[in-house]
Amino acid sequence: MNTHKILIAGPCAAESREQLFATAKELIDLQIDYHSFEFSFFRAGIWKARTNPNDFQGVGSEAFSWLQEIKKQFGFKICVEVANAEHARQCLENDIDAVWIGARTTVNPFLVQAIAETVQHSALTVLVKNPINPDLNLWIGAIQRFQNAGIKKVLAVHRGFSIENENVYRNSPCWEISMALRLKMPEIKILCDISHIAGNVVLQQMVAQTAINYGFNGLMIEVHHAPDKALSDSKQQLLPSQFSDLLQTLIFPSSNSSAADALFFQRNLIKSIDIQISKLLSKRMELVDEIAVIKRKHALPLLQPDQWKRVVEVYEDNALKDNNYTHFLEEFLFLLHKNSLRRQENI
Ligand code: PEP
Ligand code: MN
Repeated sequence: MNTHKILIAGPCAAESREQLFATAKELIDLQIDYHSFEFSFFRAGIWKARTNPNDFQGVGSEAFSWLQEIKKQFGFKICVEVANAEHARQCLENDIDAVWIGARTTVNPFLVQAIAETVQHSALTVLVKNPINPDLNLWIGAIQRFQNAGIKKVLAVHRGFSIENENVYRNSPCWEISMALRLKMPEIKILCDISHIAGNVVLQQMVAQTAINYGFNGLMIEVHHAPDKALSDSKQQLLPSQFSDLLQTLIFPSSNSSAADALFFQRNLIKSIDIQISKLLSKRMELVDEIAVIKRKHALPLLQPDQWKRVVEVYEDNALKDNNYTHFLEEFLFLLHKNSLRRQENI
């Protein structure tokens, strides 16, 4: 089942020898057959690109010796992030198998070029994460710099995009961008970093299943032996047991093409859309309740026709242009408004 899939798992950051060993040992104890994957890596960031200068910045080169021990003792191939040519040079010297280019580095062609020149013609696997902003050409350009440098194994990692008004995911998936990459560079395998898209534990199963449904070649997942004590990204790192549960719940398409298989992708996409609609509707109702409290406090009327008109316009602007949908939308908006008012009356 996994022979054509790629798996990258491990903590956001290397924090200490003990933390790396505890996580790697638990990953081994899960009895996952890592050899059944096309390839698998143990990940750990050693230099962390953090927004806030007061946050944990990674332990730096000290982690190389710990990672070498992990490699020897558990047989994992090792993958770390590089953000400049000096990082890349140290990875080559320290027996690292794969490096990933982080989203904040992919945006900078000078840095990407310097890293590509440092690792040129080496046997390193290079994973290029999408740039922070949804710019397909910037992503493609970074991938090409490694191809031009003679790197044989260049892969892409979809980790979501930083966009305005995203309130479900930490980084908006914008799946269409990875699908466009697939069309433009069919030879490049694409992994999905579900941890940085979801930003929490709850959404990861859905993100992973959606990625599989879209035909991604594998997953990158942050796993920590004690996420609540993690020095970075503690909300999104899975316990090893959660990681194992997640892998077991994923549904992979089977190779014999019955009618059910033909519908597999569409059905699963609809399921993931339904989960999102359901979560968003619940969130919307909560906001309606908050607004009711504000209206009451300021003695404002419950019904504000101009505001409702603006809501209707948002739905109309994004609507399918056919009669059936127009009819459905009228009924749906009627129900939505009626229920929002009823909730507000009750507050
Ligand atoms: C990471 O993988 O820990 C990381 C920092 O990723 P990104 O560059 O996607 O933010
Ligand atoms: Mn992280």
